[in-house]
Amino acid sequence: MAYGAHHPVLPPHPDLGLARDCEHCLGWGTVVTRDGDHELCRTCQPDPGDGESGLGFAS
Ligand SMILES: [Zn+2]
Repeated sequence: MAYGAHHPVLPPHPDLGLARDCEHCLGWGTVVTRDGDHELCRTCQPDPGDGESGLGFAS
């Protein structure tokens, strides 16, 4: 059947300025999940929400 294309997922790009004083992620801005994935630290990083869709740069 189809191969499970395990394409590498780039870690999110945290705001290190916010993460600097965070004790949860120790300044990394990201935390490693049990699956070994990186995700933004929910303690210091703002919720990205769904920024891909409907992001209107109205200028
Ligand atoms: Zn953090």
